[in-house]
Amino acid sequence: MTYRAPVEDLAFTMRHVAGLEESIAEGLYPDLSVELVEQVLEEAGRFASERIAPLNAPADRTGARFADGQVTTAPGWKEVYTAWAEAGWNALPCDPEWGGQGLPTLVQTACVEFWNASCMSFALGPLLTAGAVEALTAHASEDLKRRYLEKLVSGEWMGTMNLTEPQAGSDLNAVRTRAERAGDGTYRITGSKIFITYGEHDLTDNIVHLVLARLPDAPPGTRGISLFLVPKFFVNDDGSLGARNDVRCHSIEHKLGIHASPTCTMVYGDAGGAVGWLVGEENRGLACMFTMMNNARLAVGAQGVAIADRAYQQALSYARERRQGRAPGAGEGMSPIADHPDVQRMLLTMKATTHAARGICLMTAAAIDRSRLAPDAEARRKAHELASLLTPVAKAFSTDIGCEVASLGVQVHGGMGFIEETGAAQHLRDARIAPIYEGTNGIQAIDLVLRKLPLSDGTTVRGAIAEMRKVGARLVASRDEAFGATAARLREAVEALDDATSFLLKALSGNSPADALAAATPYLRLFGIAQGGTALAMAALAASEARAAGDTNPAHAGRIALARFFAENIATGARGLAQTVMTGASALADAEAALAG
Ligand SMILES: Cc1cc2nc3c(=O)[nH]c(=O)nc-3n(C[C@H](O)[C@H](O)[C@H](O)COP(=O)(O)OP(=O)(O)OC[C@H]3O[C@@H](n4cnc5c(N)ncnc54)[C@H](O)[C@@H]3O)c2cc1C
Repeated sequence: MTYRAPVEDLAFTMRHVAGLEESIAEGLYPDLSVELVEQVLEEAGRFASERIAPLNAPADRTGARFADGQVTTAPGWKEVYTAWAEAGWNALPCDPEWGGQGLPTLVQTACVEFWNASCMSFALGPLLTAGAVEALTAHASEDLKRRYLEKLVSGEWMGTMNLTEPQAGSDLNAVRTRAERAGDGTYRITGSKIFITYGEHDLTDNIVHLVLARLPDAPPGTRGISLFLVPKFFVNDDGSLGARNDVRCHSIEHKLGIHASPTCTMVYGDAGGAVGWLVGEENRGLACMFTMMNNARLAVGAQGVAIADRAYQQALSYARERRQGRAPGAGEGMSPIADHPDVQRMLLTMKATTHAARGICLMTAAAIDRSRLAPDAEARRKAHELASLLTPVAKAFSTDIGCEVASLGVQVHGGMGFIEETGAAQHLRDARIAPIYEGTNGIQAIDLVLRKLPLSDGTTVRGAIAEMRKVGARLVASRDEAFGATAARLREAVEALDDATSFLLKALSGNSPADALAAATPYLRLFGIAQGGTALAMAALAASEARAAGDTNPAHAGRIALARFFAENIATGARGLAQTVMTGASALADAEAALAG
């Protein structure tokens, strides 16, 4: 099954949900026009569909191979990666000072969706390189920037993120990798890291590892962690590659999915200590790493959307061909399964939740852009808080949707979905990692509730809810009957979110964090439903207005029908989630007894 990049829909969502036109009009993107953005998406979509997507299934079968400390990527990967980097795609969001194109996060997020839908294993390496570039741009010394950034930006080299150790996953307090001052301004790094994506491979001549480690005199916990740049090969003053550093890949993992993405155990300092250079200040490494992790969290959210869209496209195509039974009102003979109401429900659930998650990711990207580019400091601060609020929702809601949609994709295929040759199973296997890495979805939910709701004493979350209500008011004012009960159901969902938010803010200020922690995951889901339903409604309102103005594009009717399906069939779960948030914690008090039984 091939992948068709949904260029038109991305462009429409950027314009009518993520405010692309307003941002251009306000001067946030001085070098951009809607037409230029559409051209970029068109080109990216073509590269993704034509060059990368055909690698997906064969690379899943071959996987990445490990022998004698070397990792060999799947056949054809090096050629496609080189062509992709040479076409400038790696440099898209990067600072022009280092050879980047300086395009906004909004455009990058749309492209990240395309790369990951075409092949998640392939796109994962560049995703982490983008995070490394961002962390180095923000925190590295001028010398490190000059030595490394240009080649990381061009994609000639790739970057990695080294946080995880066997005893330190969600809890980075437990990081044990050691860093010793060498006395010449460099450090010697010793220890091992597990699960390092693209820690070793044959796509580029050099690999630049960003590694969290602890100095001997560091304070305990996360206040004592520093960030180091550790290259695979040293880089001479003239930019040429020197000797090999004391870092090696010990082995790669055999995994449920993303088989072609090498997940490496890395060993630092077997032969006396890997040479590392400090990024930022000593003991402030986690703050630097967070620059990279926030970037990566939104990108992982876009991976969830990507895999969901690819699974949906495949399921729809299969459902239109496969014939079984007779659908209501159909003539003689077997109907395509796509005509059966229950299959239609599955397909619509897949499409509506995918589009809702896409809307959230693009809104988050737009807020990140505004937080950097708005001329007014107060506008930047507010946008930063909105982006901080939305990032855990974008990551966790979208990656949960990725799994759910990929699972429905298998279901639509019936028995064939369980058979590897259709490819539906691969999407489900690949999707499953995204709720786990870049901070598990449970950790995202806790971040949302404990750190993001209290921003500006709750003003930020209240502001987000007020924006949702404004869209609700526009729905009420719309005379388009095609909306059905969209306005009413969405209003109920937003009010449910408001109630749950008040409950949690009270629990937090009343020092009952246990209640808030117990409620975090259902609250994040509720937030995603209200925000995602709002995003769909914004697109549908724009479609309705276009239709009223005589635009006969058939996609417009589809947008209204999709928003209505979401409101009437999925947003209806919001009240139940709010109930769980507000009363469900008490049942956890008996968790021990229930689990023991
Ligand atoms: C394929 C793959 C690629 C990866 N790539 C990288 C990479 O490039 N670089 C890197 O550094 N790491 C990488 N990781 C590691 C990944 O980020 C971690 O697996 C993840 O952060 C979870 O840590 P853990 O596996 O130790 O799980 P744990 O932290 O043990 O969590 C297990 C469960 O407990 C929950 N939990 C843990 N703590 C809490 C808490 N305080 N409150 C509530 N619930 C909690 C979690 O949500 C989860 O459900 C990768 C992992 C995989 C599988």
